[in-house]
Amino acid sequence: YFIEPNQLEEHQAIITGDDARHITKVMRGKPGDKLIVSDGVSREALTEISEIEASQVTVSILEWLPMDHEPKVSVTIAQSLPKGDKMELVIQKCTEIGAAVFVPFVSERTIVQYDAKKEGKRLERWRKIAKEAAEQSHRNKVPEITESKSWKELLASFEDYDLVCYCYEKEQGLQLRDVVKPFADKLKADPSIDPCVLVIVGPEGGFTTGESEAAEAAGAKSVGLGKRILRAETAGMLALTCILYETEE
Ligand code: SAM
Repeated sequence: YFIEPNQLEEHQAIITGDDARHITKVMRGKPGDKLIVSDGVSREALTEISEIEASQVTVSILEWLPMDHEPKVSVTIAQSLPKGDKMELVIQKCTEIGAAVFVPFVSERTIVQYDAKKEGKRLERWRKIAKEAAEQSHRNKVPEITESKSWKELLASFEDYDLVCYCYEKEQGLQLRDVVKPFADKLKADPSIDPCVLVIVGPEGGFTTGESEAAEAAGAKSVGLGKRILRAETAGMLALTCILYETEE
């Protein structure tokens, strides 16, 4: 369970809210049961339930655990907002695989239009999905989900990354593996680098030629993901998997 840093003390931790309800109602937790709590930043512990109240569970720290389940490469998935609940699928699956950040964005052919009124609720739901997926796959950190960006804002953020991969199904030349392999070799040669990679995935209708040119001009590598056209929600999962496959120890 991920809890607020100030609720994780030296000898005990207090779990409240939805997590406490989950432990009592769904897991039917009782004193003596073991569970792992993390502040999602720097501390994680194996604990034992010592006290259960209606809306609060107190656990005693048994052992501090190493936080070594995060990938070396921090991968940000920038996803042009897909239709329906597809973004939820992207967040859930890419969190399990190991994404660090999600950036929803609006491009020319994005079908779902940005609605500031709905943004707060939607973000809250996405963050809950990321937290639950991170807990179930035993991540040490819950991926961050930013507010939706415009295409321009996304382009302006390229300089924050060591590598920007722009997934373009019309790309005839460069494939993702051609870019990731040398990147992984560079990391092996210099383990002191703390690498950040941005993966950009387009909407159901793909990117326009103008967007493609702008991405390359801003420093992105336009890459293909094989000879098949993937659904908008599948492309990020595949790209993330390939990057982590090449760079994980
Ligand atoms: N029409 C399908 C749909 O409704 O989901 C396919 C959409 S595809 C155009 C959506 C995005 O996935 C593209 O903009 C691109 O970023 C990525 N993509 C899909 N297949 C790809 C491939 N073979 N190589 C590179 N990127 C790909």
